[in-house]
Amino acid sequence: MGSTERIRNVAKRVAKWARAGHQMVVVPSAMSGETNRLLGLARELAPAGADDSYSRELDALAATGEQASSALLAIALQAEGMQAVSYAGWQVTIKTNSAFTKARIESIDDEKVRAELDAGKIVIITGFQGMDEGGNVTTLGRGGSDTSAVAIAAALKAHECLIYTDVDGVYTTDPRVVPEARRLQTVSFEEMLEMASMGSKVLQIRSVEFAGKYKVPLRVLSSFTDWNIDINEEARSGTLISFEEDEKMEKAIVSGIAFNRDEAKISVLGVPDTPGIAYQILGAIADANIEVDVIIQNISKEGKTDFSFTVHRNDFAKALDLLKSKVVPALGAQEVTGDARICKVSIVGIGMRSHVGIASKMFRVLAEEGINIQMISTSEIKTSVVIDEKYMELAVRALHKAFDLDQPVA
Ligand code: ASP
Ligand code: MG
Repeated sequence: MGSTERIRNVAKRVAKWARAGHQMVVVPSAMSGETNRLLGLARELAPAGADDSYSRELDALAATGEQASSALLAIALQAEGMQAVSYAGWQVTIKTNSAFTKARIESIDDEKVRAELDAGKIVIITGFQGMDEGGNVTTLGRGGSDTSAVAIAAALKAHECLIYTDVDGVYTTDPRVVPEARRLQTVSFEEMLEMASMGSKVLQIRSVEFAGKYKVPLRVLSSFTDWNIDINEEARSGTLISFEEDEKMEKAIVSGIAFNRDEAKISVLGVPDTPGIAYQILGAIADANIEVDVIIQNISKEGKTDFSFTVHRNDFAKALDLLKSKVVPALGAQEVTGDARICKVSIVGIGMRSHVGIASKMFRVLAEEGINIQMISTSEIKTSVVIDEKYMELAVRALHKAFDLDQPVA
């Protein structure tokens, strides 16, 4: 949605689908750069040293980006000879909680939308926003139009939710790091959830959670193809995030390598090994609203143990501070250390459930590259390691190759 030309292109594409007999609901995001522009204006005018006291106004402001693009799309569709009508989230109503700038959708009233569809119209609904109980406009966090689209698809029990974006699908890993990375034709919802939570920025993670909860088939595809391509070809393009674990998926044991540099590691050393320690350390962290990811507690020696975990880098200083000033003195621990120059690299695949030795292969590959593993965490369908960030690209490339992700799936 970068320009009027692009909006016209979107209108032609939507009209193509509608003419093929589909009832269409379209959820545009703002014109590119618009949300940043609006938030930038707010920053210029914001009260000095401000907290989030004006977040209600940020939402009222940012929501206008989608309102404009939605109305423009409706106009462009009418120019295509289609009947189209746009609605803002609060008009639908899309109800959210009141957490400004990161609101969550609570319910969607589909009545008006259904009536418009039944009257033969294409319905355009602003992404990224809703309204809280008090009638305030809210937004769903950056990238939130993905979540709007999935939530609306769920409410309407849509056949499929197509997310047109600036990449043409989900890849085995980031092609900027591994040029041989391949686009996946299908990926399971669970794998997608792991990948989205670990740095693959294709979809807002909440949209994937939503799709999982309501079993909305999701397809990620490119918005840069010619609108005029064959509709059947378009319907099969991109990556389908699916709920059926078909045979093809079974064959690839590892489907992707995810990585992120967004975390930092904190270690509390020489903690007395007594009941309640994890709670005292992590409880204080949680009370400060800081999310914790990988956690390790060592075996104790002479009644003392070491305790390490990772937090988001944005919370690193805050977490260290809190531990040093409050928790460590209270616990009688020896010291707290931290390291922000780490990264997390993960192999993800539902095939790991039924195959042994996958994690050990990962460790072998990293050992062969001389990469030291600092922390490990596993789930049924992923193994993650925390390593020095300077080895991130090396690790990702080596793992991508070792798990044959550069080879087409047989
Ligand atoms: N316009 C919003 C953003 O830039 C929402 C979105 O595009 O998904 O974050
Ligand atoms: Mg987006």
